[in-house]
Amino acid sequence: MSEQKDIWVVIEHAAGVVKSASLEAVHAARQLCSQSGGQVKAVYCGAQSSEGVKTVARSGVSQVLLIADSDLENYTSSRYLTALLKCMGDAPPFAILMAATNHGKELAPALATHLGSGLATDCIGLDYNESSGILVKRPVYAGKALSSLEFSGPEPVIITLRPNAFRADPVTDAKEAPIIEHSPEWTEHSRLLHLKEIVKGSGTIDITEARIVVSGGLGMQAPENFHLLEELAEVLGAAVGASRPVVDNGWREYSNQVGQTGRTVGPDLYIACGISGAVQHLAGMSSSKCIVAINKDPHAPIFDVADYGIVGDALEILPILTREFKKAVQA
Ligand SMILES: Cc1cc2nc3c(=O)[nH]c(=O)nc-3n(C[C@H](O)[C@H](O)[C@H](O)COP(=O)(O)OP(=O)(O)OC[C@H]3O[C@@H](n4cnc5c(N)ncnc54)[C@H](O)[C@@H]3O)c2cc1C
Repeated sequence: MSEQKDIWVVIEHAAGVVKSASLEAVHAARQLCSQSGGQVKAVYCGAQSSEGVKTVARSGVSQVLLIADSDLENYTSSRYLTALLKCMGDAPPFAILMAATNHGKELAPALATHLGSGLATDCIGLDYNESSGILVKRPVYAGKALSSLEFSGPEPVIITLRPNAFRADPVTDAKEAPIIEHSPEWTEHSRLLHLKEIVKGSGTIDITEARIVVSGGLGMQAPENFHLLEELAEVLGAAVGASRPVVDNGWREYSNQVGQTGRTVGPDLYIACGISGAVQHLAGMSSSKCIVAINKDPHAPIFDVADYGIVGDALEILPILTREFKKAVQA
């Protein structure tokens, strides 16, 4: 294991707004460095210095490595990979952390393959000790068990972190870290992919990052009833999720699907409406801090994991919840 214990955090942003999952990764890296004695450096790839860079500089990192190039304004794996490798040169950090978002899930394995490093994905726990280095915990078997892993082999080790698993209060007392600019050097590999356009999907909040998720299953009866979920979500500032058959039926987009073959969420509050609670669905939401289930069937398995259960027709209960939450929010 090398003496140098610096940790890089690859920052994800959309139009200069830093993703909360990246700030969680900074928090996790700071905790590790408080044990290992290393420094946290944020790597920000973007068109130019922006408000996002300043946000990161004030997040408690020691340094921001800004890789500035107009080709990095929007993420593409080959450009980000090339830029990171160039920035690293022959002085790799001890570890690289990033959020287990769609981008992180693509970039991390590419980076690990390129560097021949160990990769642990979707981690929900991190620790450090002198003899083993970084130790990680990650869910396995569709969330039914937790595995603990340690790394061997070359550094940097690459780790992606499940959004919402490392939440912390925002840092308010940090000094603004220095911003060190780097320029990428584009290679043939980096030009393998060109971004043509981004078409925005429906919904503004990514379900993996939302603090509240309101999800609908087949019990919602028909796609036109999902407006009931959207109305409640709007009042609560929540994202709308769905079970797999709802997505298979074309009622909602795949990006909404929660579960084993969908996305994994860990919000403060998960409201499951007309969802039976099949094991494949639970795999994607059982780590939610508080689960509320609305189901007509009092024996539905979702009630086994729910903190609060409402037995009844979701189509009747949802408007009542929306009305009452609206009153509470406005009070
Ligand atoms: C390999 C594999 C991977 C899978 N991956 C996923 C996955 O990622 N995500 C996922 O969700 N599923 C997944 N599934 C499917 C999973 O097994 C279930 O079939 C699915 O979760 C059931 O969806 P549901 O709860 O919406 O529908 P159902 O099981 O049909 O449940 C509908 C529920 O709604 C209730 N209900 C009906 N009407 C009302 C009403 N008016 N008000 C209130 N409640 C009502 C019923 O009592 C029932 O409990 C996977 C399956 C396999 C085999």
